This record gives sequence, C-alpha cells and structure tokens, in this order.
Amino acid sequence: MGKVCVIKQVELQKIAEEIVGEDVCSELRDGATQLVFGDGDVNAEIVFIGEAPGKKEDETGLPFMGAAGRFLNEMLDSIGLDRKDVYITNIVKYRPPKNRDPSKEEKKAFLPYLMRQLDVIAPKMVVTLGRHSMEYFLPGVKIGEAHGQPQTINMPERSWMLLPLFHPAAALYNGGLRQILLDDFARIPTLLKQINS
Ligand code: URA
Repeated sequence: MGKVCVIKQVELQKIAEEIVGEDVCSELRDGATQLVFGDGDVNAEIVFIGEAPGKKEDETGLPFMGAAGRFLNEMLDSIGLDRKDVYITNIVKYRPPKNRDPSKEEKKAFLPYLMRQLDVIAPKMVVTLGRHSMEYFLPGVKIGEAHGQPQTINMPERSWMLLPLFHPAAALYNGGLRQILLDDFARIPTLLKQINS
C-alpha cells in the first residue's frame, strides 16, 4: 500500500470515529448494528454515493451488499470495473429502522462527514445513486430529468464531475429503469476519459 493510500485510510478512519464519537444520529445508531462508512479504493477516480444501509449492509458493515448491490456490481462489470476499483458509500451511514427513507435531518447531519470523505478521497467523478444523495449537490432538480447528465460541482477547494443516476434498487422493481441505468452507466468511461484528457 502506498504512502498516500495509508494517509487516506487514516484520515477516513478518523472521520468514521468522529461520527461515532460525536453521536451523529444517535437514534439511528442505537437501532443499527454498526456504522457503514464506505468501501473500496481510497484512491479511486469514482465515488458512488447511495442512500443508506439496508439489512445486509447493517450486518456486514459494508455498503451495497444486497440485491441493489448485486445490480451495482453487474453495472460496474458492464463497464469493465470491479467494486475494488471504485469507492462506494452512502449519505446516511446507519440503517434506518425497517429501511424507511432517511429523513431530511438525518441526511443533513451526515453531510459534513460525507463532504470530508470526498475531500480525502479526492475523486474525479462522483456518481449519486438516487435522489437522496443527489439533492444536496443539485437542489430542486428532478432525477427523472437530470439522470445521466454530467454536471460540474464547484467546491471551495476544487471541482469535480457529478453524474446523477437512478438508484439501482429502483430498477429492481421497474424493468424500464434497468436499461436506463445501464445506458447511463455506459457513459462513465467516456466521461472519465474526457476528465483525464
Ligand atoms: N441501498 C443504498 O442506498 N445503500 C446501500 O448501501 C444499500 C442499498
């Protein structure tokens, strides 16, 4: 493991410990098994941000391990990538009870930690999965209109490309969305090439 990688791992571990130490969303924490912070390559060019852990994620401590995760793996495979080539996380990092949608307050409470996580990883592209993680970067935008369209997000420190996509779980119940997601996903390699050129 390179030096930068170790430094990033340490920084990310600190953020995870702060979430626990600062009692972020203690009600969610008390009902969950563990924090699901993130998984993958800390030097990744792409970070995927989902909504919140579900049952499997709560059990394993890793994001996207259930049915939606299997579809995400399949889509990564369709563009020649593996989970270990990217970094995957969620906006909310504890499982909400009975998999309910995370509340506005819960998303707001985790946002500063997510932003710091992104600052440490410093990806070139951020892919939001579903409206919950999209809405803080593109407030007021409808996912049905914005999906698959890259945007530039200007942060104080730096800017990166944001690609909003539908949530893979939505495609499990809606066959039409499955192909839309695969088509949007297929844009990722070309967009990355553009960023790197
Ligand atoms: N759905 C999400 O948004 N995140 C997960 O980690 C799993 C399912």
